[in-house]
Parts: sequence; C-alpha cells; structure tokens
Amino acid sequence: MHNIDLRSDTVTKPTEEMRKAMYEAELGDDDLDGDPTTLKLQEIASNLMGKEDSLLVSSGSMGNLVCALSHVKPNENMIIGNKSHMFWSTTQGNGHPTYGQINLIFLNEINGLFDLNDIKNPLESSSNQVNLVCIENTHNADNGIPISDEYIKNLSEICNQFNSNLHIDGARIFNAASALNISVDKLVDKAQSVSFCLSKGLACPVGSIISGSKNFISEARKQRKIIGGVMRQTGIISAAGIVALKTMPERMIEDHITAKHLANGLAQIKGIDINPENVHTNIVFFTTKNIPIDDLQQKLDSNGIRCFNLNGRIRMVTHYEIKLEDIDKTLNIISKIMS
Ligand SMILES: *Cc1c(COP(=O)(O)O)cnc(C)c1O
Repeated sequence: MHNIDLRSDTVTKPTEEMRKAMYEAELGDDDLDGDPTTLKLQEIASNLMGKEDSLLVSSGSMGNLVCALSHVKPNENMIIGNKSHMFWSTTQGNGHPTYGQINLIFLNEINGLFDLNDIKNPLESSSNQVNLVCIENTHNADNGIPISDEYIKNLSEICNQFNSNLHIDGARIFNAASALNISVDKLVDKAQSVSFCLSKGLACPVGSIISGSKNFISEARKQRKIIGGVMRQTGIISAAGIVALKTMPERMIEDHITAKHLANGLAQIKGIDINPENVHTNIVFFTTKNIPIDDLQQKLDSNGIRCFNLNGRIRMVTHYEIKLEDIDKTLNIISKIMS
C-alpha cells in the first residue's frame, strides 16, 4: 500500500539530484580545515540570509540550543513563547537551563505573536538583563502561521531599546517567506541570529543552518564543539543542502496549495472542526466533534494515511512527496470514516 505520510515534512527523502551531489561531493575534515562543500553551503546560506556567516549543525534543536548558548551566559535570561518548539521540545527536557544555566521567561503567544506590551514588562522590570528574545517563524503549533517582517521590525525595536538580541527559530523560514511573498533576507534582517532546517520541507536527509554576524558564528562554533556537535566529512550532508537551497524554496508554494486544498476539503466534512482561513503554509491542524481523535488517527493509519495527534489535535503537514491526488484520497477516506 502506498503510504501518505502527513506526520511531518521531515519524512521527505532527498531528491535524485541531491543523492548524486552527495556521491560526488568534495570532502574534508570540517573541524580541522573546514569541509570544502560545507564551506560552500555556509557561504550560500549566508548570502540567502543576508548575514555575515553561517554554521552547519545536525538539527534544528541543536541550532536553537547553540544560538541560545552563544547569546546568553549562565544565570542570564531568555524569553521564549509558551507554545514554541523551543519550549515544548527542548525546555520540557530542560535543555537550555541544564546545558546553559539559562533562566527562561515564558510569554504567552497568540497566533505566534507576543503582545508587544507584554514583552516590555520582563525586559524593563527584570533585575537581570534579558539577553535574548526568541520567536518562531513559521509558528509550528499556531497553525504554521508566518510572522510578518513588520511585526519583527516592531519587536526588534523593543529588543534594541533594552539591549536584547533577537533570535528567529526559522525551522520553516522558507515557508514563511514564500507565504508572505518576501525574500528571506528581508524577513530575518532585524534578527541577530536565525536557524533553519534543511531536513524539513527542503527535503535534505539531515542538517540545519544557523546564521548571524562573524563574531556570533565564531562563538557558535565553540558552543557547537562543546555540546558534541562537530562532524567530520560533512560535505556529504552539505551537498544535499546546496541542491536544496537552489531547488526547493521556489516550490514551497506548492505545499501551501496542497495544505489549503486539504483544509478546504476538511471544512466540508461533517464532524470535522477546522477554519481553513487559519491555514497559511504547509501545516494543518483540526479536531473532531463526534469521534475521538485517537480513533480517527488509528483508522487513518490502517488506511495508509499517517498523521500526528498533538495534544488533542490532528496535525497534517504537506511536503513535496504529497500531491493533490494524495490529498483527495485522504479527504475521501476521512469522509468515509466520519460518516
Ligand atoms: C522541527 C522544528 C525544530 C527542530 O528541528 P529538529 O531538526 O527536529 O531538531 C525547531 N523549531 C521548530 C519550529 C520546528 O518545527
């Protein structure tokens, strides 16, 4: 049976062009000399992000952790959102406090945004300096919503006023840029650092990139080493990354079209609760009215359709292996289950 895997865009396998590039990649020891293919990828990424320098890391979580450790010293403070990936993945495992002795301040997020008045309180009143404010773009748990450059500009002005850095967890920053119809460098230009995943919609087998100033990346390189993040012939990974940055960003829009098609179809099915207006990128969340979420998920699974149940909501994520026909098939099956 052909599986329709909507659990995450991380399930994407490298394209043929990527595999070929990986095979042919020029390699070296990335710690000792800098792997030549990785150096090239980092340069391409820096240009795309409009930053001075970039660094390859093994995952988005490592990228965010390395950025936090580079900006924030022990016993200093950092603001993250209460629905952010940095909260529910790393923080629940206590990553940042454990590894960096970083004090976390959680702020409420609505549609991926902090209230700009809310954020002034911790920045002003904290007896300790807040060294970093983190936002997520697109915002995974808030329907994959893209955060506008205008909001980021306003937020960064407040950060500047209180001498705090701004970090963008841009695991899906290319989805955000595509949905907002803006270039990625413009979208991140007010942030002192950004991390993005090669391994999600960009379809690489592994890897994330962090970008920032020369000084920042030099510190990040040290932090990456400390947490065991150095890899050697990384050109194998980076070769896929180079192909990804050349070929995948321009097709993100296709994933947004399939996601919208899914959301519109779901809205027509009795017993499904979704507002298609909330779907802007490649992430679709919905709930059910009459049957438990677990039941629906299990029945979908036995029909070859994979998805996640995340805290009582079904999440489906589109990506380049998902075609419109797959969405139609998914909608058909959900419709049968629900009736
Ligand atoms: C997936 C994701 C990450 C982490 O990426 P991994 O490569 O899985 O560690 C970080 N932030 C957001 C918003 C994500 O969606």
